[in-house]
Amino acid sequence: MGATDMTLREAAARMAAGERSSEELVRTSLGRIAAVNEKVNAVLEVDSHAIDAARDIDRRRKEGEELGPLAGIPVAVKDNILVRGWRASAGSRILETHTAAYDATVIARLREAGAIPVARTNMDEFAMGSSTESSHFGPTRNPWDLDRVPGGSSGGSAAAVASGMVSVALGSDTGGSVRQPASLCGVVGLKPTYGRVSRYGLIALASSLDQVGPFARTVEDAAILMRAIEGEDPRDATTVGPLETYVPELDQPSVKGLRIGLPKEYFVEGMDPRVKAGVMDAVRAMEAAGATAEEVSLPHARYALATYYLVMPAEASSNLARFDGIRYGYSAGTPSLRETYEMSRGEGFGEEAKRRIMLGAHVLSKGYAEAYYRQALKARTLIRRDFDEAFKTVDVIATPTSPCAAWRMGEKSADPLTMYLADIYTISANLAGIPALSLPCGFSDGLPIGLQLMGRPFSEATLFRAGMTYQSLTTWHTLTPTL
Ligand code: GLN
Repeated sequence: MGATDMTLREAAARMAAGERSSEELVRTSLGRIAAVNEKVNAVLEVDSHAIDAARDIDRRRKEGEELGPLAGIPVAVKDNILVRGWRASAGSRILETHTAAYDATVIARLREAGAIPVARTNMDEFAMGSSTESSHFGPTRNPWDLDRVPGGSSGGSAAAVASGMVSVALGSDTGGSVRQPASLCGVVGLKPTYGRVSRYGLIALASSLDQVGPFARTVEDAAILMRAIEGEDPRDATTVGPLETYVPELDQPSVKGLRIGLPKEYFVEGMDPRVKAGVMDAVRAMEAAGATAEEVSLPHARYALATYYLVMPAEASSNLARFDGIRYGYSAGTPSLRETYEMSRGEGFGEEAKRRIMLGAHVLSKGYAEAYYRQALKARTLIRRDFDEAFKTVDVIATPTSPCAAWRMGEKSADPLTMYLADIYTISANLAGIPALSLPCGFSDGLPIGLQLMGRPFSEATLFRAGMTYQSLTTWHTLTPTL
């Protein structure tokens, strides 16, 4: 049994019993990365100090010290989350040589829980994208079919979990970047409620939408990782607490009485029929276990994509203004300040980053802000109200995570609009600030399909309970690709 084949609960039990050491877990993880990363390109860098950290945990365990809930567990971390002393390049040339000066709050909390960051994972440049093809460090490949994309932008973290490099990883989700790659790689991913997880030390894309979220094979492991990273943080004023934390060890998950809503606006043309069938089978399985399903309406859903692609570039253009060739990272270093700005940004940013910076600057500019940006904020409110309304009659909303399974590399990268359409089911949760879980629910021609469950703000416990129940009834999450 490989170290990454165990659930967190199994790994903890084996380490407590002295049958496994953290050093073995970390070595297995690094060994797997060495064996398959050349094919997958999920990992940009590994931390050789991880073995020392593991030995330290093993020693402290032997000495009888009380250790945290993730003691000795290797974790992979997306390249836009700061880990002190590691490079943090956000997949971009402009930050290629940037080293993080401090730990993000999520990393500090993982360390407190005893986890060991082992690897930095690939991503679309500045988390803009749905395929991990826009990384300056080359694309990540889908472990289920190396000619296909892993989804994005956290494609590296998703592929690392799917290919058994680690059992858990962190990503970030602004419009689907945890859930969509989780879906395309056949693993679990959660976008937490906005404000549940600190963004301190996350390289900002769109600050009103960004959340850090966990990847895992099982819903239980995702819940355990969440418990470690969530909660109020004085360094991020949008975080809230105290929270009702989900403790899987104490819960008997059930979907008895759970009311599932199926938005009629989502199940329309454009959806791969096999994706639809997979999602409907999952809903039926939960109905058989005591849930009920009914149609709900999200009348403003059709504005979500347009709204997102106004709000997100607007915020991105302002967040990315700090990368100017003076303060961080790549600098063209010309004698003129103005030329340094222009050339550093011109040479440092890739196509998609430039496209969004220009879009964002345009929709915020005098004369256009009223027509575009402010209009988008109004639409965003209407989208959130749709969810408030729907959650009066149902507890969760079930949809596909992605309208299709993993596509071939290069298939959508030439046409930004078709790429943006891949986000159609995920972006609403970010606009509304609500939590959303993606979990494997079947296959289409050998490629994984994901079920998305959205809930009321701060109802992660309900999503975890539903997801754990579903995984106790099915075996999709136990299947792994052969590499
Ligand atoms: N694919 C979406 C985009 O390109 C989502 C990105 C994200 O969640 N970071 O913006």
